[in-house]
Amino acid sequence: MTFLPPTAGCSGDRDAITSYGALTSPESHTAQGEGRLLLLPVGAVEQHGDGLPLATDVIRAEHVAQRVAQNFVGRALVMPAIPYGVSPHHASLPGTVTLPPALFIQIIETIAVCLSESGWTRILVINGHGGNNGALSVVQQSLLATHPDLIFAWSPLTSLAPNANSRMGRSEISGHSGESETAQMLGIDPGLVDQKSLRAGVTALDQLTGRARLSRATGPNIAVTFDKYAPNGVLGDPTTVTAAEGQEILDEIVECLTDYAAALLAL
Ligand SMILES: [Zn+2]
Repeated sequence: MTFLPPTAGCSGDRDAITSYGALTSPESHTAQGEGRLLLLPVGAVEQHGDGLPLATDVIRAEHVAQRVAQNFVGRALVMPAIPYGVSPHHASLPGTVTLPPALFIQIIETIAVCLSESGWTRILVINGHGGNNGALSVVQQSLLATHPDLIFAWSPLTSLAPNANSRMGRSEISGHSGESETAQMLGIDPGLVDQKSLRAGVTALDQLTGRARLSRATGPNIAVTFDKYAPNGVLGDPTTVTAAEGQEILDEIVECLTDYAAALLAL
């Protein structure tokens, strides 16, 4: 995994570039005039249990963004990713680096405004971290007030693959660093996962008490830090999944976002 933009390849075919950061300034001006869709991967740097890397969320977001862009060569570009996100709920475990929500909002909104005022018209944020969802909705509403003609969409990842997720099977409590997220990382590259260190976390509702249990109820919403869920910060059992299951999940996500990107380009 790298945060560097891919090159044009041995062929030197610059028309095949799908990375915004690989374009020259004049090329970016031409691409902007063509109305291309910009895909902005965002994630988090935070604990992902004992077996997944800290950058799991941005790795998945970049992977999906690059695959979607490959379906739209000449029509979509992947922006350099924002690797940091809103993660105070993971701060009790080592490795987590969190941004204040207001700063994350400011970063994403500033990038969107800068792009809009340069003439870009379509942005799709591909978000690998649920803790960013609220902030991205705030950005969306703020941009509606200041830049109503800018198309600013954002998408989660895992929930876009309901079929592959349910085929795989998940424990009653599943989520962060659990079955789906671990399968996706194995599907991208098994070398990203320390498989011998994968451990189940909380897997059933009756293992939770107090505020953590209330946070899983439907209806009103309450936030909780991950040490209240499980000492190892894992929701679910990541030891049961395979790379093949992860590839099915990723394929379904890419298919969904490819259809959505086509619709955005048609606007
Ligand atoms: Zn994650």
